[in-house]
Amino acid sequence: MTMPTNDLHAEFFAAAPPGELPRAPLRLSCVVPVYDEQANLANFVQALAASVQALTTDFEILVVNDGSRDGTHRLAMELVQQLPVRYLALSRNFGKEAALTAGIDHARGNVVLLIDGDFQHPLELLPQMRDLWQLGYDMVYGVIADRGAESGAKRLGTQLFYRLMNSGSSVKLPPNAGDFRWMDRKVADALKALPERQRFMKGLYAWVGFKTAALSFVPQDRAAGESSFSLRRLGALALLGLTSFTTLPLRVWSVAGVVVALLALAYGSWILVDTWLFGADLAGWPTLAAGIMLFSGVQLTSIGILGEYIGRIYDEVKQRPCYLIARDEDRSPLRDDAR
Ligand code: UDP
Ligand code: MG
Repeated sequence: MTMPTNDLHAEFFAAAPPGELPRAPLRLSCVVPVYDEQANLANFVQALAASVQALTTDFEILVVNDGSRDGTHRLAMELVQQLPVRYLALSRNFGKEAALTAGIDHARGNVVLLIDGDFQHPLELLPQMRDLWQLGYDMVYGVIADRGAESGAKRLGTQLFYRLMNSGSSVKLPPNAGDFRWMDRKVADALKALPERQRFMKGLYAWVGFKTAALSFVPQDRAAGESSFSLRRLGALALLGLTSFTTLPLRVWSVAGVVVALLALAYGSWILVDTWLFGADLAGWPTLAAGIMLFSGVQLTSIGILGEYIGRIYDEVKQRPCYLIARDEDRSPLRDDAR
């Protein structure tokens, strides 16, 4: 097999191919998480089905409705009648990470494709993903090559996040790699086996490992509607990532504590020497007041960070499922009894 050509904006970067494997014939499960996507859903699922048909006739499209408030449900129910769609409706909005998890849990193919339902992930990349999979890569993911369209604050935040993440965690996150992924069954099974409820998917993909290849792409503009990820929501996601995959924020305070203690010791010794040699004086109240305020601030911050971790532990020990399915319209041709 030849290496894929670089058309579109796609550029291939990965280590030498692991060697061609005799892969079983492709049975593809496409997972599409949707939240308030009535303007895109029908067009997108049709376009996806057309692109996938060129790769295999053995496929299913899992539309995961993440508690949409618009007409997404009605449209999805129509699509189930027309195309090889399995429709999963979550009981409320659980967030994209949970919607993806639901899709992966219910996928039956030997390959699972994760793709957004807003046309931002180019369907033109699918043949290249398939070729790389056939070359032996178990996971092929899209990397955003150009964040030109995003605000400065979002770009800066993203940069800071990846720097913190990669300095604190032994698992390295490839910067700007998103949820646009082609995964072999063994990767999907590995993800399913991870027990955590609070799922920071970008971290989990990196954690499971396997042979991976990246394809860079320039995301298209959203076909319709608006992104549901505000700066605040992205901030919450970044905090989830940091606290799920690193203990760096905790370690910072241990180091700060040691430094402050050493400084205090040095200062205390200096006062002692000063008093012995030059006699006592009672000056230094402003220093004292400022010092008390500074260190209560430091202590509150460190308690707050401890609290973040304890909150995560609390959420995990409750062992609630990370999503609930309210409806499952299963017309998937990959159903065992449909074969
Ligand atoms: N999405 C979801 N649940 C949410 C928010 C988003 O399933 O709570 C879906 C959304 O419908 C889309 C994908 O996740 O298919 C990416 O979301 P969006 O386009 O809002 O994010 P962005 O592309 O800006 O990262
Ligand atoms: Mg989007």
